[in-house]
Amino acid sequence: VPKPVVEMIDKPKSGSNWASGLLNALMLCAACAGIFFYAELIESAHDPYWAGGTVDDWIEAAQALGLYAGVIAVVSLLPYCLLSLLIKPATGRAVLSVVLPVAVAGGVWFLIDSTTEELPFLFKRGVPVALLTLLGLTTLLGVARIAKPAVTASVALLGIVGAIATMYVSAITNLMADDRGSQAALSSMVWLGVSMTGGLVILLLTVKAWPRWFVRVVSMAVLAALYPAALIAAPYASASLNDGEHKNVLLISVDTLRADYCSAYGGSVPTPNLEAIASEGVIFERHYALAPWTVPSLNGLMTSKYPPGLTPGASSEQRALEERSYQKIAAYWELNDGVTYFKKIGNLGYETAGVYANPTIQFQEWLTEGFQGRQSIDSTTAREPVRFKLTPVLRTVLADYRPAFAETRLIDSSAAVTEFGLKFLRQPRDAPFFLWLHFMDPHTPYDPPDRFRKGETPWRAFPPESALLSQDEEGQLSDADKAAARSLYEAEIRYVDDCIGRLLFALRQRGLDTSTLVCIVSDHGEEFWEHGKWGHGYEFYDEQVRVPLIFAGPGIMPSRMYEPVSSIDILPTISGWLGHGQNDEWHGSDLGPLLAGTDSAPLQRPVYSQAAHYFRYDPEPMRMVVDGNYKLIVGLESEQRRLFDLSDDPGETTNLADSLPDVVTRLQGLIDAWTATFPADFDDAASWQGEASAPAPDEDYEEALRALGYAE
Ligand SMILES: [Zn+2]
Repeated sequence: VPKPVVEMIDKPKSGSNWASGLLNALMLCAACAGIFFYAELIESAHDPYWAGGTVDDWIEAAQALGLYAGVIAVVSLLPYCLLSLLIKPATGRAVLSVVLPVAVAGGVWFLIDSTTEELPFLFKRGVPVALLTLLGLTTLLGVARIAKPAVTASVALLGIVGAIATMYVSAITNLMADDRGSQAALSSMVWLGVSMTGGLVILLLTVKAWPRWFVRVVSMAVLAALYPAALIAAPYASASLNDGEHKNVLLISVDTLRADYCSAYGGSVPTPNLEAIASEGVIFERHYALAPWTVPSLNGLMTSKYPPGLTPGASSEQRALEERSYQKIAAYWELNDGVTYFKKIGNLGYETAGVYANPTIQFQEWLTEGFQGRQSIDSTTAREPVRFKLTPVLRTVLADYRPAFAETRLIDSSAAVTEFGLKFLRQPRDAPFFLWLHFMDPHTPYDPPDRFRKGETPWRAFPPESALLSQDEEGQLSDADKAAARSLYEAEIRYVDDCIGRLLFALRQRGLDTSTLVCIVSDHGEEFWEHGKWGHGYEFYDEQVRVPLIFAGPGIMPSRMYEPVSSIDILPTISGWLGHGQNDEWHGSDLGPLLAGTDSAPLQRPVYSQAAHYFRYDPEPMRMVVDGNYKLIVGLESEQRRLFDLSDDPGETTNLADSLPDVVTRLQGLIDAWTATFPADFDDAASWQGEASAPAPDEDYEEALRALGYAE
């Protein structure tokens, strides 16, 4: 008889002992628990924002794995020990050590299935199929005298570990995909199949002469880790991260961040990361938003076009329509060659990506259309579980016994934005990039992570789940409630500053700081009863429109500028820095000479802002101009004029309109000249009513506006 070239391994020896059977049973318990655990992770990975979870999430996931393994082990090992005393033949013991753990795991699955409504598809179908496969394989290999059950179980375990690693890593590499979670889940299942098949082949081919257990374990582990390790290594293998040729842009816009609270602007809230980047670049002390709320402000910022004119005397519904209908006015957002700036630089070879946590932005098509990668994070409706986030089925089971396990919370959108930013910066690329990150914090609801709160903050009047507070509720606020609101807002600022710090650290770590322009800005501020009200969107006092603007990067001379500038200047400045020149349709100025320190002459230029339909206080539409030290606010319906000297009266408490009529006349002249430059006027909007071209109401958009308190 010819000697076989390949030696079959691990033939169960006759008289195989009791302990060997116990090892088999233990390994199979672990493999069965691994199958449950993996199915749980797959389910949790279907979340489109899935990025693997925090350390705390993984600690809870490990507890869940321990729970599955513990239950299966306790229930199956006890009868194994008893029965194996009665069953003498080794084969009988071996069969027992396989069948008992798998049967108990099947029982656990059956219990979960019968007590849980709507078990997720993969858990319902996947777990029993995987358990039967494990049982089949183990029995088959055992009967063919190829492998001990413990060895088969370890192949399964290594395959599962490799699949979990693949899932995590592919969530990172697919970060801009629409359904990132599904891709992560799918790729991990494919890799589970590949690595387990490979593991079995290794098992079959292991030559007897070698130290078998070593060869087997090492080669299977290498196989399991191969694909995820390659994915992780790819960014570090790319050579051209900072070759000096690429000029990149990182634009960070922070929603609702008033300048005067930040320590970078002399405020009391520590913002060490803003301070650090400001010390390396140019910080504009007097930067004004284009409107006191998100939609008009960001639209103007991203297009360098002023928000369209407002119609005096219009109903509040009409005004709301005017301010929400930018996307219907193609002339407003298309440049004369018909493409946005972001599309244009995409065509020039830039990798462009935008991630935004304010849900109203996804409805502003011209803002996001030009980005190759875009992700809207719905910070008002997307929820996540508080406990056992990565093991949804076990959480459902436990919630039947303790309601605390059913608790959910709004997702932490700032964490999601930061995660996206970090992963984008770490990805390999040969092209320059433009990355826009929009943080929703510190916008309401004020719900900062615990570590940023100052002790226990009582916040009775305003649930952390809602951006809204009725006027009745607001009227009942005590001074302590108002102080609590401020304290929470401050905590949110500290949190966002921390997120920005992590992003800037990653930028430096990747060596991109020497080739990247960093721009940090906000779209508007927030009033805390300085002028008797709370929130934003209805007034033009500094607390609502004076917001941070910081530029830092190569070629920028550190300094602090006191000239009034506007968000209208941001796009021209970025384009100028990248060497793309200016566009005739832009209304802003390139601040490049100021940044480079080559032009120290003051800009001597007025800055403007306009808007207001905020339903809460039902204000009339207003316009604002800041020229030198003076600010004029004009009501378009009442024609009321308020003039403030910001150098003498930074709190804007004394209206000088009557005592300085010449200044009022001069500033009104500036406003009149400015309004003549609007790219589109909503005077026509009135005639849309009833016409075929009237903007169709967008239910989802209206809902997003309502959630944020921008509509009734
Ligand atoms: Zn905003």
